Amino acid sequence: MAEVLVYVDHVDGAVRKPTLELLTLARRLGEPVAVALGAGAEATAATLAEHGATRVLTADASEFADYLVVPKVDALQAACKAVSPAAVLIPSSAEGKEIAARLAVRIGSGLITDAIDLEAGDEGPIATQSAFAAAFTTKSRVTRGTPVITVKPNSAPVEAAAAAGVVEALAVSFSEAATGTKVTARTARESTGRPELTEAAIVVSGGRGVNGAENFPLIEALADSLGAAVGASRAAVDAGWYPHTNQVGQTGKSVSPQLYIAAGISGAIQHRAGMQTSKTIVAINKDPEAPIFDLVDYGVVGDLFQVVPQLTEEITAR
Ligand code: FAD
Repeated sequence: MAEVLVYVDHVDGAVRKPTLELLTLARRLGEPVAVALGAGAEATAATLAEHGATRVLTADASEFADYLVVPKVDALQAACKAVSPAAVLIPSSAEGKEIAARLAVRIGSGLITDAIDLEAGDEGPIATQSAFAAAFTTKSRVTRGTPVITVKPNSAPVEAAAAAGVVEALAVSFSEAATGTKVTARTARESTGRPELTEAAIVVSGGRGVNGAENFPLIEALADSLGAAVGASRAAVDAGWYPHTNQVGQTGKSVSPQLYIAAGISGAIQHRAGMQTSKTIVAINKDPEAPIFDLVDYGVVGDLFQVVPQLTEEITAR
């Protein structure tokens, strides 16, 4: 059976959820072979084996921590050479997309980004993408070289599937470009205790309708009642009401949760670009003509200052 490389996104050996989702998709295409790099790479093996990885190729070197993405591209290129995979799957994070693009150029392959589904095809994997505010979905296939595909978080379920997960050392020789850009400092963001925006199963976002930073705790309280992440429209971010790290949209983050709740957000195309692939969309807006209502599964026409606290209270009571 063909092997499919899965790039492992992990923090000191703790595998992040989007990688486990990739393993589910990889099993549709062949046998998943995971590539884990950096400190804690070997510690990922048990989790990866529980989710279907037949082999785990690991490499650790200071280059992975000290420099930006090129050392990781070098490692994935070495893995491609060693495995001759049917495809390479990478999570659609900012870093993942940069790695994928550079890898595709290196190995002379085509690239598909932000897939929301994958299926096996006679001539290679077929990727589904969403376009024009989810008005269309497209299916495409890489026609040259080994397909390199990035997949949006929350596009597939995490499924347990016991496999051998045999750990093998991956030999990597770093290119000259690998040490071109050095990391000079890392600053950990203060934890809010909420899930990471791009990985969260539920996102509650607030927009200009929230009308001030002092009112965002209303959005946070609803998010906390649901165990959700908090997002914001650019209007709310530009006004200084919420940090840019939480902006959803074309110039913010792209999210694809099971449930997206938009409160006081009109639904501009640039906002939709970051949330249109959410599975279920709920909007709370006092304007029945707001464009967001064209996109939603459930719409509440009402004042968010009444609806959001009621919703929070109802959910908390359950
Ligand atoms: P508005 O469009 O002002 O909508 C506010 C909504 O709140 C209205 O529909 C109103 O009816 C409703 N409302 C008001 N009060 C209440 C209330 N009490 N209860 C309920 N509803 C209420 N935007 C993004 O979000 N993300 C991006 O990444 C992004 N990138 C951009 C990139 C470019 C190049 C450009 C040009 C624009 C970008 N924008 C982005 C901006 C985008 O075009 C919109 O301006 C922005 O999304 C509007 O934010 P909003 O919906 O919060 O505000």
